[in-house]
Formats: sequence, structure tokens, C-alpha cells
Amino acid sequence: MPLPLHLLIHLTLALSTGYIAGKHFKNIKVGLICGFLGGFLIDLDHVLEYFLVYGFHFNLVYFFQGRQFLLSDQIHLWFHAWEYVLFLLFLAIILKKYKLIETILVTVALAISVHLLSDSLINQYPPKFYSLMYRAENNFSAAKLMRPEDYQKNLEWKKELSL
Ligand SMILES: [Zn+2]
Repeated sequence: MPLPLHLLIHLTLALSTGYIAGKHFKNIKVGLICGFLGGFLIDLDHVLEYFLVYGFHFNLVYFFQGRQFLLSDQIHLWFHAWEYVLFLLFLAIILKKYKLIETILVTVALAISVHLLSDSLINQYPPKFYSLMYRAENNFSAAKLMRPEDYQKNLEWKKELSL
């Protein structure tokens, strides 16, 4: 799936989740902002990962192709993790009496969940891939974490670079 379409799906789901949660908590504006944060801006960790691999030699084409994972042989995806969902929901239970904080925490948690589930479906990785603990157990190794056909691309790109 081309990246613009992938991002459009995330954006639509993020705003829908935010709207529904916002409606539930009777604060649609906060709902939409938190939906956008948790469901869309979560993808900024791709940008972060890219800069950590390439420094400031930004190449938009490489970035869109996901080469930040492939050249480093590591997949961190710091923001993509079910652990944050659990943590945010746990905080929401503790801080339940503060309505605005509860709205923010639950909506961000929901939006992250929807994002991770849709990533899992679109990219065809099992939901456990989106766990920081699971990726840590595999030493964030692209070879261990990626589907063989995706990892194969890595080897081709590496070859291309050494030409
Ligand atoms: Zn994502």
C-alpha cells in the first residue's frame, strides 16, 4: 500500500476515534486533538528513527521506503507499543475524578490502539510486533522481527549502497 494512502487511513481513523471518544466524554474538541495525537502523530517515531540512522542527510524517497529500519538493521518504533495503552489506561483509572485528564488519557489510549491494530492489518504483522517488550526480547533486530520478504528488501538496498 502506498504511504499517502496508509497515512490517510490513519488520519481518518484517528479523527473518527477522537470524535467518538470526545462525544462520549462530552468534549469533542479535546477528543479530536487527542485522537490526532495518539492516532496520527504516533508515526513521528519513524522520523525520529530515520534521523538517528542518517543524521541530517534527509532523503524523502528513502524515508518513504522505510529505509531507516533496513539500513540500521534495527527496528525500534519507540511510540508504537501496547505498553503505552496499558499505562495510559492505568493512569486514567487512578485519575478518574479529573474529568479532563480522564478524557485525554482514555482518548489517546484508544487512538493508539486503533492505530496499532490498523498497522498490524495493513503491514501484516501480528499485534505482538507492536509491543516494546517483544521487540526488546528480539534485540530490536530487523532480521528477527521483519517478515522474510520485507527483510529481503533490506539486503537488496544494502547491495545497492555498496555499488
Ligand atoms: Zn504507525
